[in-house]
Amino acid sequence: MKNIALVAHDNRKKDLINWVEWNWKELIKHHIFCTGTTGKLVEAALAGKQGKSIHFQITKLKSGPLGGDQQLGALISEGKIDLFIFLWDPMQPQPHDVDVKALLRISALYNVPTACNRATADFIISSPLLQSEYKPIIKDYSEYINRKI
Ligand code: PGA
Repeated sequence: MKNIALVAHDNRKKDLINWVEWNWKELIKHHIFCTGTTGKLVEAALAGKQGKSIHFQITKLKSGPLGGDQQLGALISEGKIDLFIFLWDPMQPQPHDVDVKALLRISALYNVPTACNRATADFIISSPLLQSEYKPIIKDYSEYINRKI
C-alpha cells in the first residue's frame, strides 16, 4: 500500500476526477491524501464507483490556498508520501503561487515520483513498482547540514 497524494487546481479538477474514475480499482488499495476541495471531489468519485460496501482511506488536508499545499509539503518532508499527482494549472496564476512552487520544490528535493499531467500519471499508476517496496534515493545533505557558519 502506498500513500498517494492527489491535488488539482480548479481548471484541472475535472481531468483529475476523470483519471480517478478510470483508475479507482487501483487507487482504493492505497491511502489517498488530498488538499481540501480536491479531496471532497475524489471522495465522492470513489464512493460513487464502489458503493458503500468497500472501504477506502482518504485524508483531506486544508484547501490548497488555505495552507493545504504546505501541509502536504510537510508530509513529503517527513517521508510520508510515496507518489504525487499534481495537476496544476499552466494557464492561470494562483493566489498561492508561492505555495505551489514550494510544494513542487519539496517533492523534487525528496525525489517523490510526481506527475504534473495525466500522461505521466498514467505511467505512474501502471508502473510495476507500484506493487513493490520502493525507497527513493535521497541525496545526502549531511555536508550541508553540518556546514560551518
Ligand atoms: P484544493 O487545493 O484542492 O483545496 O482546491 C488545490 C491546490 O492546492 O491548489
